[in-house]
Order: sequence, then structure tokens, then C-alpha cells
Amino acid sequence: MPVSTRLPRPEHLTRSIPAALAGPLPSISFEFFPPRDDAGEAVLWEAIRRIEKVHPTFVSVTYGAGGTTRDRTIRVTERIARETLLTPLAHLTCVGHSVGELRNVVGSLSAAGLRNILALRGDPQGGPGQPWVKHSEGVDHADELVSLVRSLGDFTVGVAAFPDQHPESPSLDFDAEVLVRKADAGAAYAITQFFFTREAYVGLRDRVRARGRDLPIIPGLMPVTNVKQLAKMTELSGQPVPSSVTSRLEAVEGDPAAVREVGVDITTELAQELLAEGAPGIHFITMNRSTATLQVFENLGIAAAR
Ligand code: FAD
Repeated sequence: MPVSTRLPRPEHLTRSIPAALAGPLPSISFEFFPPRDDAGEAVLWEAIRRIEKVHPTFVSVTYGAGGTTRDRTIRVTERIARETLLTPLAHLTCVGHSVGELRNVVGSLSAAGLRNILALRGDPQGGPGQPWVKHSEGVDHADELVSLVRSLGDFTVGVAAFPDQHPESPSLDFDAEVLVRKADAGAAYAITQFFFTREAYVGLRDRVRARGRDLPIIPGLMPVTNVKQLAKMTELSGQPVPSSVTSRLEAVEGDPAAVREVGVDITTELAQELLAEGAPGIHFITMNRSTATLQVFENLGIAAAR
């Protein structure tokens, strides 16, 4: 039984991300995570208000690992839908959810007027690197969540992609096969994990194309703004940050402002190379702070697709 609402929904909520990706202008989007407390929520809303002014194509909110963070994800997404003219993309994961619970979450998002969902498996409950255990009444992989969400209403569904290889995947070719499976299940586009080289992106795109699918793949980029972040990024992505990046940052390690500036430069250069390669846009991972990502966006000197 479809769960989508029958009431007309405001234009900014129903705006189609795949339609924007097919247009002449690049899609520009920003990703936030659910804040842990009220102070974090205030910081997040400052960033959202600044980002609203540049009219991005969409903004996304990640789905937390459980309990209160999940409630905050839904609350923040609903508030973006209600109080801004931004197009929200809600992330949703299979972690710890039965199919019935997943249907309920999709129902809440639909009731808030949302039409765009990013369907993900999520990391194992023990953290990245630990074995994945599916909920006994849940689903095992993101392709199944894509099918489930699509069966519940008129949702437009995106998925995750991994230019540097997913940590649990046996090969880059297997990653491409997985992306094909997600496209065949009804995903209309993908957003990547952050990465640092043009070659990684082009390789993934070409492996998917070689399999006869022209799935738009939006590069996910995260400017490094302090040197400590590098180790954390390696842990999160499962891939070492290339020495071409670490050497530039470490050369100015003692000067926080210079590190930030170099981090912004590195991301600007990569974004320019990716857009020149025909990438349909750039998805900025903000860590809930708008300054560095907005600076990269300004450096690009482009308007975002709407
Ligand atoms: P899947 O596509 O299911 O892949 C997971 C693993 O299983 C991969 O190794 C894949 O190769 C393998 N696999 C996939 N399908 C099959 C199959 N049919 N048979 C056998 N093996 C298969 N995590 C969160 O918790 N919350 C978020 O909001 C969030 N947002 C993200 C946004 C983006 C843009 C990205 C790139 C990642 C995000 N993640 C998030 C992290 C993501 O959930 C993890 O990286 C997770 O481990 C993989 O998710 P997936 O959707 O790609 O899973």
C-alpha cells in the first residue's frame, strides 16, 4: 500500500534531483549530520541558513546509528522541509530496522512532504570493519531498500557509490556490479563517498558505463580543514588519503589558517577537474560547518541547478 500523501506538496519538496542532474547546470548540494544536542542543532541551523542563500540543488541529512540521533535526523529533515525553501534529501539505512520499521520511517518522511530518499545499507552496528549482521526481519543490502522505497510511493531514490572501493568489497569491479544492481532496482543516481583523485571517480564511472548503465554519479567532496582530520578520514573511508594531498597539508601543519586554505584549494581543484570530466555536480560534506564548503563553491564561480 503506497504511503505517499495525497495532498499537494510544495514545489521545493517535490523537485526531482535526477531532473536537475540532467539539466545544463551542475547540481550543487550540501550534506549535514544530525546534531547530538541543542547546541549542535543551533550550529547546524546557522550553516543551513547560510547555505540557503546560495540556492543549492538540494541538501541532505544523514541517518544516525540509532535511537535519539535517528529521531533528530527525521526532526531536522522535517524542519528543513517546513521552514526553508531547500529541497531535502533524507538518508535512510537498513541498520537495526525490520521492514515494518523501514516502512514507518518512509511514511514519516512522506508525511513531511519529502520525495527524495538516499537508500543505504549503513555501516555494521559494531562500526566499519566489523561484520555486517542484518536485522532478522530486515533487508541485507541497499538494492533491496531501493526496491522497498520505490514500492511505497512516488519517491526518487539515490544510492551510495565508492570510487576507492567499499571496505567490504572484494574489488572495484564488484563495486561497479553492486551499483548496476542498485540502478536496476530503481536508483536514479548515486552520490560517492569522499575521495581525492580524478582517476578514482573516472574509473568508477567508466566501469559502470562499460556495463551499459549511464547512472549519474555525483562526487562527494569534503575539504580537509585540519591535519588531525586526515587519520579520521582514512578510518571512515577505509582508504588512505593520497600523499599528494597529505604532503601539501603537512607542509603547513603548524599554521591552522594555512591548512584550511590549502584544504579549500585541494577541494576546489578536484571539483574543477571533476566538472570538466562531466560530473553532474558536486555534493559537499559539510560536517555542519558551512564556511569551507561555501568557499569552495564560491571559488567554482558557478550557479547551482534547480
Ligand atoms: P550496499 O550497497 O548494501 O553495500 C554494502 C556492502 O555489501 C558492499 O561491500 C557491497 O559490495 C556489498 N554488496 C552490496 N550488494 C550486494 C549483494 N546483492 N550481494 C553481495 N554483496 C553485496 N551511513 C549511515 O549510517 N548513515 C548515512 O546517512 C550514510 N550516508 C552515506 C552517504 C553517502 C553518499 C555514502 C557514500 C555513504 C553513506 N553512509 C551512511 C555509509 C554507508 O552506509 C556505508 O558505507 C555502508 O557500509 C555501505 O552502504 P551501501 O548503501 O553502499 O550498502
